Amino acid sequence: MKLIDGKEVSAALKRKIAEEVEQMVAAGYRRPKLVAVLVGNDGASQVYVGHKERACGEVGFDSEVIRMSADTTEEELNAVIDRLNADDSVDGFIVQLPLPSHLSEQSVIERVSPSKDVDGFHPETTGRMISGLDAYLPATPAGILELIKYYGIETAGKHCVVIGRSNIVGRPIANLLSMKGYPGDCTVTLCHSRTKNLKEVVKSGDIVIAALGIAEFVTADMIKEGATVIDVGITRVEAPERKSGFRLLGDVKFDEVAPHCSYITPVPGGVGPMTIVCLMQNTLKAARKHLGITK
Ligand code: NAD
Repeated sequence: MKLIDGKEVSAALKRKIAEEVEQMVAAGYRRPKLVAVLVGNDGASQVYVGHKERACGEVGFDSEVIRMSADTTEEELNAVIDRLNADDSVDGFIVQLPLPSHLSEQSVIERVSPSKDVDGFHPETTGRMISGLDAYLPATPAGILELIKYYGIETAGKHCVVIGRSNIVGRPIANLLSMKGYPGDCTVTLCHSRTKNLKEVVKSGDIVIAALGIAEFVTADMIKEGATVIDVGITRVEAPERKSGFRLLGDVKFDEVAPHCSYITPVPGGVGPMTIVCLMQNTLKAARKHLGITK
């Protein structure tokens, strides 16, 4: 069994991005810029935005966080989005989800200009991705592809079972792994809460991607000997014995599943660190487009 080390892979990618930024700056270009819009006081969102801001610093991007109160109106948020869409110094921006319940996430997603859609959530971006065209890939699926590439995990002709059909993880990764080429050429099954005989279906997977958000759902009896298991789930559970008071669990019961795998991601330290670095990759890509850098 080989542990897939998302910290190592993300650090390598960050170094590569940072090098490219310094080359851009040395050639007289400005630094890429990412802006995050944070509406309300959701604790997890504040942590995520903090991580994104720190990652920008690490790779040499300019960044800004726009903090808006929980009672922000749709008009106020739209005005900020419109301003960012029009601001030539901003390469990409994200509106951190979830939003307070009086705001429509879908209308926010659709208001972001596709040219700055570094989260890869706009329907135009999704359409391009599904058509196999150049697109900003959503960060978590992109991170999974990077892990597969880094470890040279074989995908052609493999049966990939994805558990979870969200627009940000399950659906896009299922689609991407079905594409022609590497990493792809998989035969993909997308499972969800209505799937019958889930255990048998998962057990037929050469590659299993768990993204359902139920802690330790995938157990050893669901895994084929030698499978690759990618665990996207993150569930915070109380752990009074820890200083932080909590620990993170994945969707896979790691200790019992790991001995049966050829490759497996841990939680934390697997897919999680890849998500942020792929957001940085998208921002660099956006900056290169906006600055007309083609090489
Ligand atoms: P979601 O919460 O929007 O949806 C969950 C999906 O799981 C649904 O499609 C549902 O059909 C499916 N599901 C629920 N119960 C099921 C069951 N019993 N059997 C089979 N399928 C079932 O999904 P999401 O937003 O993709 O999040 C999934 C998990 O991934 C969460 O724990 C989330 O925190 C985590 N996540 C991690 C990262 C990361 O960077 N590592 C990024 C995004 C999401």
